[in-house]
Amino acid sequence: MTDPAAPHTDLPSATPRPGLPSAALDGAAWGAAHGQLVGLLRDLIRIPSINPPNPPGPETAAAQRIAAELRAEGLEPEIIEPVPGRGTVTVRLRGDGTGGDALLLLSHHDVVPADPTLWTHAPFAADLADGYIWGRGAVDMKAMVAMETLVVVLLARRAREAGLDPARDPIPGLRRDVLFTCSADEEAGGDAGARWLVANRPDTLRAAGALNEAGGVSMDLAGKRFYPIQVAEKGFEVYRITVHGTWGHGSMPRDDNAAVMAAEAIRRLAVPGEPRLTPVMQRLLAELAASLPPDAAAVARAVGGDDPRRGDAAMRALCDEMYARALRALIRDSISPDVVNSGFKYNVIPGVATIEIDCRTLPGTTEGDMREEVLARLGDLAPHCTVEHMIGAPPVEAPASGDLYDTMAAMIRAHDPDGIPVPVMAPFATDAKSTAHLGVPTYGFSPLRLEPGERFLERFHGTDERVGVEALRWGLPVLYDVVAAYCG
Ligand SMILES: [Zn+2]
Repeated sequence: MTDPAAPHTDLPSATPRPGLPSAALDGAAWGAAHGQLVGLLRDLIRIPSINPPNPPGPETAAAQRIAAELRAEGLEPEIIEPVPGRGTVTVRLRGDGTGGDALLLLSHHDVVPADPTLWTHAPFAADLADGYIWGRGAVDMKAMVAMETLVVVLLARRAREAGLDPARDPIPGLRRDVLFTCSADEEAGGDAGARWLVANRPDTLRAAGALNEAGGVSMDLAGKRFYPIQVAEKGFEVYRITVHGTWGHGSMPRDDNAAVMAAEAIRRLAVPGEPRLTPVMQRLLAELAASLPPDAAAVARAVGGDDPRRGDAAMRALCDEMYARALRALIRDSISPDVVNSGFKYNVIPGVATIEIDCRTLPGTTEGDMREEVLARLGDLAPHCTVEHMIGAPPVEAPASGDLYDTMAAMIRAHDPDGIPVPVMAPFATDAKSTAHLGVPTYGFSPLRLEPGERFLERFHGTDERVGVEALRWGLPVLYDVVAAYCG
């Protein structure tokens, strides 16, 4: 057990550096803020805001819990419910208007389901054990929700301490607005969350830039500590392929058994495609190669080189499989056949089979390109297949330079002198797909300094999701400094 409010001395954030905005608060104030953060996060995990919700309700309860934290600081948050029980919470802190458009602190409070029989700690109990807070949403993404809420709380407190009304008056030191929006329904596409807000309440998302989930988390590689800042996301295109064969009697096998044809189609679709390095991945691999010791640098150079087989071999030999899997996905358009259906009785040859495939596209690959690739893979099976596009969204990219990116990188270095910020693309999609419609550059930046060996990537939607109490203690002042510096 770890006492969340205990004073803490062995990480750099314990003694805020002179010159950083966080230095305006002393160690006791940061200790109290950390305690408040841990309490809020545990409360949020205990609200089972599972999506798809059945029945609707817990998402609004999560929004209400966040709103209560903000109201206690004199703010007047708004809860928006496109569908009853599915609430998004939003609040705006005013700057003096001289610094440009707002910074958006973006998050979602819904979570995917969890099977409690597979977990060490009950997924909605928010146990505090072994230095971790355990539970569904600890990683994706209630920890960041709580951190962003606390940043807003601390800024509002600044106004109150100056005798101002944080709901109306500009916050001392802020030149641009800080907009906080924590949405429902990210885990099922955002029709009752961010996508709805884009169409109906763009004022809750419109900003010069946004900080969102997933990036900014430390990654230990060969003795070095990197902080990948997520500047891009792959797109996704989902297809349903219907394979048409011939019905028949199972006693007399046929080549055009739709199940057999589907098996061959899946084999062809599942072969990894040709690698293609986007500029962000080129830069990531070059920056990794420049900082890593020789053996590991050779892997980064091989993956970034012209010979894909050399890159694959180097990854297999030297790379942790968790990172290799991510890296393989980030240098090609990928196809994962994930749903297969055919047949209804053992002695009836099926005349039809369906396959649903999850395609993830690199920047530069359109839906049309992806469909062509799928048809090419099907080859001589294509005339027997109907390919139907189910859902999709294009890749998104934000600049890996400029004020906001540079502020994030600088604050990582200021709080972890051994930390190396690098730009990265995510293989998955977030609400950044929605903010892209409004032209808001959206970054994955939820700063956490993890224990070496913590398998963070595997905890997204996985079992035993957990976040370190000390990782949060490091992260909150980093996030605060980015917001205060960019908006100040
Ligand atoms: Zn998420």
